[in-house]
Amino acid sequence: MWDLPWGTSNASYDPQCNSINVYAGFLTGDLYREDMTREELMAGVGMVIAHELSHAFDTRGSKYDETGALRDWWTEADQQAFDRRVEKLIAYYESLHPWKDGSSYSGTLVQQEAIADLGAMGCILRIAKKTEGFDYDAFFRAFTKLRRCKMTETAMENRFRTNPHPMDHLRVNVVAAQFPEFQETYDIRPGDGMYVAPEDRITIWGAS
Ligand SMILES: [Zn+2]
Repeated sequence: MWDLPWGTSNASYDPQCNSINVYAGFLTGDLYREDMTREELMAGVGMVIAHELSHAFDTRGSKYDETGALRDWWTEADQQAFDRRVEKLIAYYESLHPWKDGSSYSGTLVQQEAIADLGAMGCILRIAKKTEGFDYDAFFRAFTKLRRCKMTETAMENRFRTNPHPMDHLRVNVVAAQFPEFQETYDIRPGDGMYVAPEDRITIWGAS
């Protein structure tokens, strides 16, 4: 279902049609160009497609079946395991205190987008593992570049306090830090700023 004009610079998942929509206006700049390397494509349009696919299995999307009907199609055990992982994700984001008044981030508000971001990274890194000569450094740098922005602290707070997407720097730093490929690429060790111990990492999809 196309609920936005084709030229819109956005992408979406529609649970009622079980469809991902990547609008033509999005496929420019650092997301998609014909001259991009494999790593840049996977960090750009690849991550976008994987993110929207992952929405089919986030807290909301997973409530709909493959026909778009609101139906509980998961086993009880799967649902409980998913809920436990989402609780850990929410607690992780709530342990962050990025606001000027020191209050905590809202893990509940950003959970669906955070699940999609983590699902996307897991998906792309699984493809990377099967790709001969994959340049992880080039991939992580391209991924990071896409989220660069310049904003005052007040503007950032105004924009993100009630936004279901985590702040851009969190969409890079929190997501990348959960994956061993990132930790290994940059030789991140206990005590380093982006070190996350294996038992503390958030995993929604894949082995925990
Ligand atoms: Zn999303």
